[in-house]
Amino acid sequence: MADEWRRYLAQQAELGGTEVVLGARRAPVAGQPAVPSPEGSNPATSMPDDHSDQYRAAHGAPTASPTASVTDQEPRWKRGAPPIPGSGLVVLSPAPVLLGNDLGALPTLDAVAERIRTTYCCDLCPNRTNAVPGEGNPRARLFLVGEGPGATEDATGRPFVGQAGQLLDTILEAIDVPRSSVYITNIVKCRPPQNRKPLPDEIAACIPYLHRQLELVAPKVILAMGGTAGEAMLGVRKSLGDLRGKVHTFNGIPLVVTYHPAALLRNPNWKKPTWDDVRIARQLLDR
Ligand code: URA
Repeated sequence: MADEWRRYLAQQAELGGTEVVLGARRAPVAGQPAVPSPEGSNPATSMPDDHSDQYRAAHGAPTASPTASVTDQEPRWKRGAPPIPGSGLVVLSPAPVLLGNDLGALPTLDAVAERIRTTYCCDLCPNRTNAVPGEGNPRARLFLVGEGPGATEDATGRPFVGQAGQLLDTILEAIDVPRSSVYITNIVKCRPPQNRKPLPDEIAACIPYLHRQLELVAPKVILAMGGTAGEAMLGVRKSLGDLRGKVHTFNGIPLVVTYHPAALLRNPNWKKPTWDDVRIARQLLDR
């Protein structure tokens, strides 16, 4: 499916729409120093420090360069991208309190992950092989939220490493955002049986972890993937169609809702709207 996605983007380029060459690095801009790979930009964490000007220069954020033309600066993903839409819902998360424990006192993402791995908070927990707390850059500017772990994630303890994860990696690559630069997690941290949707009480039990992770990462943009993630983040019951195409605000952070990558595996008609949504999120990163 990742290959299909690549083909889809190549086709868009041929049609004169979005010109996308996956995996291509932009040529150095005249007058600017060569930009090292983002993976090398933060030796302390081996994660790209995507708050840095270097990362922004390498990944298409607008930067001032007296010698570069506008064309040189326009990243490929931006061609034909929809404008940033108007505002949607505005929500505040409750304080992250779980089962009488103050998650707000956990000082790091590792501490939150350890708590998730060592706690049972709902009926999903006893049946897990591994809890899947989430992973990524602790200073990520883009924070991705899925629904819940699938079989591969349950087996490995890592989010989005199955087929849907491979597709997600390709999508991120297409907007010049390396997976290593983002933080990825799910609404529920343990796999629901047969990959069913998490139940409301399972979401209610688990979501305080997500709220604490968001507090700690403090991203610039949140991308909720799928209706379950969108509804749970925004605390509403609405269709994905209602939630897409707006910039919601979660605790002051812009939040975009799009299709879940697994949905694209089932229905290729959702590729185009997804590609538009992720490019809206990408533009918000640069704003
Ligand atoms: N689907 C999700 O929602 N999350 C994962 O981690 C994997 C698949």
